[in-house]
Amino acid sequence: MISVSLISLIAYFLSVPLTIIMILWLYDDEKRSFGKIVPTKKTMCECDICLYHFTADKEDKFVRCPQCGNLMERKGAKR
Ligand SMILES: [Zn+2]
Repeated sequence: MISVSLISLIAYFLSVPLTIIMILWLYDDEKRSFGKIVPTKKTMCECDICLYHFTADKEDKFVRCPQCGNLMERKGAKR
């Protein structure tokens, strides 16, 4: 007959569910963070006047602020 100590039984019945919970937690966290990343052709811009943040196409040389209507040249835009 196999003899198992009480400490081994307690360790087994504690470690197996905790391991399963940790794997599920990591899987769910990975799945959730993966969904937040969306490939897009837009980048963030900041208005020089009102400091409003908005998105604009990477290709646009000039962008207009949707908040105040300021037309400004993109920093680092392709020419
Ligand atoms: Zn603005």
